[in-house]
Amino acid sequence: MTGYRIDQLLDIEQVRRLLESHHRLSQMAYGVFDADGNEVIAVGWQDICVRFYRAHPVTCARCRESDAFIKAHLHDFEGEFLEYRCKNGMIDVAMPIIIDGEHAATFFSGQFFYEDDRPDLEYSLMHGEGLGFDLEEYLKALERVHVLSREHVRSNMLFLRDMVAVLARCGLNNLRFAREAEERKRVEEELRVREEEFRALAENTPDTIARYDRECSRLFANRAFAALAGMPEEELLGKAPTTYSSSPAAVEYEARIRGVFQSGLVDEYEFSWPDREGRQITSHVRIVPERNREGRIASVLCVGRDITEWKRYEAELLHRAKLQERLAAVAAAVPGFIFTIRVEPGGRTCFPFASDGIEDLFGIRPEEIRDDAAVLRARYHPDDLARHLELVAESGRTLAPFRIEIRVNHPDKGERWVEIRSNPQRQPDGATEWHGVMIDVTERKRMEALLAAREQYQRTLLDNFPFFVWLKDKESRLLAANQQYARVAKAGTTRELEGRTDFDFFPRDLAEKYVADDRAVMAGGAMKNVEEMYSDENGELHWMETWKSPVFVNGQVVGTVGCSHDITDRKRNEQMLLERAELERRQSQYFRVAPGYFYTLVLRPDGTLFVPFASDGVIDLYGLRPEVVTKDLSLFFSLCHPDDVEFTSMKMEQSAREMSPYHVEYRINHPEKGERWIEARSLPQREPDGSILWHGFMYDITTRKWMEKELQRKNSELERFTYTVSHDLKSPLITIKSFSGSIKSDLASGREDRIETDLNRICTAADKMAALLDDLLELSRVGRIVGAPEPVDMAALVREVLKNMEGVLNENGVQVAVHPELPTVQCDPQRMMEVVQNLVENAVKYRGDQTEPRIQVGLREEGGRRVFFIQDNGPGIEPKYHENIFGLFNRLDTRIPGTGIGLALVKRIIEVQGGSIWVESEGCGVGSTFCFTLK
Ligand code: ADP
Repeated sequence: MTGYRIDQLLDIEQVRRLLESHHRLSQMAYGVFDADGNEVIAVGWQDICVRFYRAHPVTCARCRESDAFIKAHLHDFEGEFLEYRCKNGMIDVAMPIIIDGEHAATFFSGQFFYEDDRPDLEYSLMHGEGLGFDLEEYLKALERVHVLSREHVRSNMLFLRDMVAVLARCGLNNLRFAREAEERKRVEEELRVREEEFRALAENTPDTIARYDRECSRLFANRAFAALAGMPEEELLGKAPTTYSSSPAAVEYEARIRGVFQSGLVDEYEFSWPDREGRQITSHVRIVPERNREGRIASVLCVGRDITEWKRYEAELLHRAKLQERLAAVAAAVPGFIFTIRVEPGGRTCFPFASDGIEDLFGIRPEEIRDDAAVLRARYHPDDLARHLELVAESGRTLAPFRIEIRVNHPDKGERWVEIRSNPQRQPDGATEWHGVMIDVTERKRMEALLAAREQYQRTLLDNFPFFVWLKDKESRLLAANQQYARVAKAGTTRELEGRTDFDFFPRDLAEKYVADDRAVMAGGAMKNVEEMYSDENGELHWMETWKSPVFVNGQVVGTVGCSHDITDRKRNEQMLLERAELERRQSQYFRVAPGYFYTLVLRPDGTLFVPFASDGVIDLYGLRPEVVTKDLSLFFSLCHPDDVEFTSMKMEQSAREMSPYHVEYRINHPEKGERWIEARSLPQREPDGSILWHGFMYDITTRKWMEKELQRKNSELERFTYTVSHDLKSPLITIKSFSGSIKSDLASGREDRIETDLNRICTAADKMAALLDDLLELSRVGRIVGAPEPVDMAALVREVLKNMEGVLNENGVQVAVHPELPTVQCDPQRMMEVVQNLVENAVKYRGDQTEPRIQVGLREEGGRRVFFIQDNGPGIEPKYHENIFGLFNRLDTRIPGTGIGLALVKRIIEVQGGSIWVESEGCGVGSTFCFTLK
């Protein structure tokens, strides 16, 4: 590449003049264009082109087309030059001028016609007319266009092209030469500057610098070298090192210089030698070959440096490195991250030492922070960083150690707590270094938080604990206590209690006792539980229950823990319970001796019933155990007589509704005793929970009921008796009275014959009256004089009765049949004889029209009981009288003498002995059977 433009290579004016001269010879127009196509020279340009074709838009477009064609094909034409006939009919030729292989310019000619290819003039004129040209001028211009032979054109083109090329090449050479001269001058200047710089450097450097030629003769020595050698610089020149010293150092120095001349390689070495003061100096020497332009080693440069200090420093560094190595080993063995952080006066912060522990703590490698601490600080929690930097700045100012806990963000573990402790040290260069350690305290923090939460929890628990709780040291001084305690001690906060003793809050005697208890508990090593009285500020007495325990730390008693609560209410309740138990004990004794059953019945709001208390009386009354009743009432209720269930329930509902006393009499089916009458009485009471509670009492009134019935029966019997007695006794009295009157009138009228008859009648009436009174007397005595039951052979008893009645039976022709196996029974034999006799007598007396009266004394089994009977074949008794005939004075046939007391007497005797009696008869003419049972 030449890198030059054509106008730099050619003397354009000279070439133009040359081309103008040549134009005059050749008649040809010439042009030179630079590589970009810009016109540099134009000579002999034809009017036809300049004034017409390039002036008119239509023909000018053709000219540009021609220009474009030439430009496009300048490097790919065939032949010696590019030839083109333009659309305006003119010939254009062009060729490139190549200098040093580069297209430097284009040589152009044209605007002519070949003599063998002239265009038609007429056509040209017509064409010119069509374009509006001034035909006259146009024709003149056309005529001025040169007509040339092809050979003429070729030889001129080639000649001129070569000429221009030669000129250009000459120009190029000239330019190059000028440029090289300039370059040389520049290099020489640069060399001079460098030499000056070298000298300035060499003279001012503390290093020794010397240059030697092949003969080891010194060409240059700097000031430092002269100072070291102790000679003026100029005296050193031209001498080899061994010329003024034969020391081993000088010998080695010279030998090494020669070695570099031989090898052409840089040499360097160190050597030690004593200086003039006898100090051991270590120097480092570097011997560098210096080559000339031909590459030959013209000289060597020796640069020596006093490295005594550096060596000492190196030893120091080595020592430090070993120390660091040891520190790293220690750091690796201890948990956490050990570091030295350095803050330089300019603010640069780095870590000269960082143990591998950093990786665990921050997830970064020690080398990442060696030169810049920013990587590490980027991991600090933004909220903690400012605080940390403040502390660091403060510590840097005061040189006081600092300690901080901050949060850091570990890439894998997330947020962690780190504790940083470090000691600052000011360095000689003004920097500050902190030696410290960072430890992961996340777990400790978590435990602390847990502990705090637990403490809070315990504190809350203790403060809400309804007990007084405290902790004392060995001297009975309070270490802690809860709010309850503070309240009693009249301390504002629990903190105020700390360090104080019982003497500060309680009367002296009590405090002494409490302290003595503490000592006893500590000495005994076991928990103590006491109940004690204490009087509060109002003089009110309280019962307190207190537990005290010794507190051990590492097996040593260090104090006591105590807990106390007010049990006054509990004590009061206990007392009440004791009193109630005593009451219940007494009550149960009453219940045991009192007849009947005492109970408490509860109707719950949900409608269910239960019995919390049932006395033992229920065993006798219902045949049930109290515990059965208190457990389940269904069995109890199931014993109630079906006819009385509705009535008793209704009464209870009424009592609950109206809170009125409950009082009922009802029947039950006692499992052993059968039907029993019960009277129940109770008073309702409403409980706070809406329940209704009855305290009640039940007892057996079966006997009373029976007696009432009996009394009723007896009353009606007495009524009837009074009536009948007065009536029946009246009838013989009237008889007596009327016959007495008859006797009186008979005596007065002297009819004495009738007196005897009347007297007989009076006697009969009196007898009847006597019999009546006897029977009555007998009846009244039965209840009182039935003897104690004894075994009685009924067969013998019947035989005796029949024997006594033998006369009457025979007299009336009555046949009597007796059951062959009458048993022995328990009864009063005397009264039983009266029963049998009475019934047999009635059978005889009321035989009616029976001509063959028969009596059967028998026994039959019926429903598991023995039924004795006396059967006759008399007229019988209508069923409607079956009950009636056993009533006092009731008689069916008054024509037959009798008192109507017999059957009443029999019934009384049987019933007094626990049996019953009845009659079986279908009435008229079929006989009667009187049956009885015994207990
Ligand atoms: P009394 O014999 O003194 O009339 P009782 O009390 O012995 O009194 O009898 C009451 C009544 O029962 C009798 O008046 C009689 O009408 C009737 N009576 C008793 N025994 C029989 C009998 N075996 N057959 C028919 N009637 C009888």
